[in-house]
Amino acid sequence: MYSGDTICAIATGMAGSGIGVIRVSGDRAIEICDRIFVGKKRVSEMETFTAAYGHIVDPGAAGTAPDAAHKDSSAADTAPEEPNNKYSKKGVIDEVIVLVMKAPHSYTTEDTVEIDCHGGVFLMEKVLGLLIREGARIAEPGEFTKRAYLGGRIDMSEAEAVMDVINAETENALSASVGQLRGDLKERIASLREEILYNTAYIESALDDPENYSLEGFREKLGESVDRMSINVKDMLQSFDEGRLVKEGIRTAIIGKPNAGKSSVLNMLLREERAIVTDVAGTTRDTLEEYARLSGVLLKLIDTAGIRETDDKVEKIGVDKAEENIKAADLILFVADGARPLDEDDKRIIRSLAGKKVITLINKEDLPIAISRDELEEELKNILSDDKAIEKPRILTTSAKEGQGREELAALIKEMFLTGEARGNGQIVISNERHKNALFDAEQALSRVKDSIENELPEDFYTIDLMAAYESLGLITGETLADDLADKIFAEFCMGK
Ligand code: GDP
Repeated sequence: MYSGDTICAIATGMAGSGIGVIRVSGDRAIEICDRIFVGKKRVSEMETFTAAYGHIVDPGAAGTAPDAAHKDSSAADTAPEEPNNKYSKKGVIDEVIVLVMKAPHSYTTEDTVEIDCHGGVFLMEKVLGLLIREGARIAEPGEFTKRAYLGGRIDMSEAEAVMDVINAETENALSASVGQLRGDLKERIASLREEILYNTAYIESALDDPENYSLEGFREKLGESVDRMSINVKDMLQSFDEGRLVKEGIRTAIIGKPNAGKSSVLNMLLREERAIVTDVAGTTRDTLEEYARLSGVLLKLIDTAGIRETDDKVEKIGVDKAEENIKAADLILFVADGARPLDEDDKRIIRSLAGKKVITLINKEDLPIAISRDELEEELKNILSDDKAIEKPRILTTSAKEGQGREELAALIKEMFLTGEARGNGQIVISNERHKNALFDAEQALSRVKDSIENELPEDFYTIDLMAAYESLGLITGETLADDLADKIFAEFCMGK
């Protein structure tokens, strides 16, 4: 069991809100809260997982010591009542509900008290100040979760999932991280490590004690086991790209000749749900990232500022910039003007999209259509070669002006990128770079074992690489993770979590 000092933090946001939650965790959490809480019961007399109504008082204010103010706890249970008149109302800071969760059955595995007070920032800071004065200290970012991890209640993959759940922006991102929080990844990793350990132990025993453990036929069995594990790891690795797309959004570039309707398409994408516009730390102020949420898929739109500089400025943006955007994109929305015949500009743009995932929008379907769909399809077929997954170019008709085609577009994007939905429940989606790297190393180690088997190298060669895979997988759950690296991970968390 991890035992540290007692920490406290505001768990809700640092903006005024109806209710604010202050969390206190550690060996002295209950004692410290007892000193500033006055209710019918003392915090130390409360059963675990119960709540009590009362007041936070400043024990420093004259005549307000909660110890003196507590009523006889055997007094009949009645509805919430006014603070005991034995202490002056001057010392009362807020009317609160406290919630007690005793070790080890709490988020942190330690004694934890949550104070539900009113959500004013000044007020919450004042309560926090009292807790500190009575012996708690401000928690570091992620320290509550770190204690849950050090207390052995969750592994590192679950701890990381906590932040992913908080930061999830879409249904898909949420379900992927909730799965991880539930321990799906932990279990998968644990069973792989167990299998590796079994194999290693068997080899070692056989080498030590050949009379009782036979290695005859073991190579084949090990080969099968390694193949199985390898497929398993590769499957998780493959889900990474998808996981990233789920979490960070599909980087989408809207490309097309001037006046085709790019900015109208952009507006159509942004229309229904408010776009999130964030300043990215460390970049210039005008580098804004814009996102569109489209029936559960998140699109991270590239260079929307460029698109908005339409008409006269569009020429100035230049080919280089467009190429750069195309390169950076996971998805290209190629906007073709349906009201004009296909021209050289369109063809030149199409050629520049070779190898990318492209959805072509024949826009302005509300106008008489002048573009030849067949000709467009022919041109698009030429760039399909690198995208073997499909035989036909993906073409939709839209009217950005009238908001037509949004649903069809969303459905098509989902089909292209989120096979994860097809992965179904319980399927693991890796969305964390750290996990991906560890899986990659594990997969490399397993393939070295496979090589050793194929080259009929002696058994002790296998154990080195098996153990390397074992170590790599342990990084994900935290078992083989160095303390300083664990600290670094928690430092990325938000305050109060
Ligand atoms: P961009 O230069 O590619 O960004 O094109 P814009 O989005 O600025 O659109 C160019 C012109 O086409 C504007 O006058 C739009 O109102 C018009 N436009 C865009 N989409 C449609 C559409 O779906 N139907 C019609 N009728 N006009 C459209």
